[in-house]
Amino acid sequence: MGPGRLPVAPRPYRDELLSSWMARVACRYGLTGQELAGHFAHDGSCYSSPLSIDDRTLAQDQTRVWAQACGVDPERLQRLALSRRYPRRPRSWYASRGPEWTPMTVTGSTPVCLACFAADQSAGRDGYLRAGWMLAERCICPVHGELLHDHCVSCHRRLSVAFRLLEGRAQPVCSYCGLILTDGGGEGDRPHDSALVATALATQQRIAASVNGKNPEQEQFEKALANLWAPLDHPAAARPVLALWFNEVGWRCPNVVRHAVGAKTPLGLLPVRWRVVTLLALDDVFGPELRVDGTLPPAAAHLVRRAAPRQIRLSSSSRRSHVQQQRSAAEYERLARQILADPR
Ligand SMILES: [Zn+2]
Ligand SMILES: [Zn+2]
Repeated sequence: MGPGRLPVAPRPYRDELLSSWMARVACRYGLTGQELAGHFAHDGSCYSSPLSIDDRTLAQDQTRVWAQACGVDPERLQRLALSRRYPRRPRSWYASRGPEWTPMTVTGSTPVCLACFAADQSAGRDGYLRAGWMLAERCICPVHGELLHDHCVSCHRRLSVAFRLLEGRAQPVCSYCGLILTDGGGEGDRPHDSALVATALATQQRIAASVNGKNPEQEQFEKALANLWAPLDHPAAARPVLALWFNEVGWRCPNVVRHAVGAKTPLGLLPVRWRVVTLLALDDVFGPELRVDGTLPPAAAHLVRRAAPRQIRLSSSSRRSHVQQQRSAAEYERLARQILADPR
């Protein structure tokens, strides 16, 4: 295939990731988005190597070539860049992968909402990856209120989305087992407590608004989240302060989240269900006013002290008696356990 004009190239959707659009174009030619990018970069040489696509910032000359080949306004492609959509958001507030995660440059390694894919299918359009799925705090779809998926519901590997042309439409599939990703598989019946999911969603929206708008609350969120994921008791500890919130003797920090311990902005490093748990803990411990300085709620004060190398025993009764009482702590913990036990 030469680098000239492509006869078939769909338009990008307004809320789509650039890498998703490239993948949708490419699947019409039996290629991946990276392979297509490689072809463009190397004058269509058969030996061109795949090129990674950075969704955060786009090289102007690159997008100009792609736009020309696909008959799309280059400005329209530039607008897909995350740096254009969220100009105030720091890089550390996007999803990125920890040690055992595949590099973020792999197309479609963002968490996804299966209900959004199902909506694409019933609307008769291509499935596509939403830009909002890249946000570090995003763990619940604001449209459908469902938890995002970062594991394949069939082969259970970490999700990597590929696109396949079926019946003339690009359909998102698991790149390992080929499962078509829609929520037709009876996945919608998980018994999550909807009130608490709504709480996590509200917290997620507040974080998004403050990080996108760079308002002073962002710093408060960063402090509170860093405190929850600070190493417990001594700097090299493998357990985060969050372990105290579980209030379970002998709780061990799973390998999939160990790299987030001690991180300044831990949310983007976490798998989806750990983001939900972190948001619930944030709400439970710091309260809706998010007081991280001065008048710290006693429960938060205790946790924050444990983040420093000081030995203060924290009994569950003293912690719980001071926690803001709109919801029972047991409710939070039950949901947290339920989410973490979910084998997705
Ligand atoms: Zn959705
Ligand atoms: Zn799979």
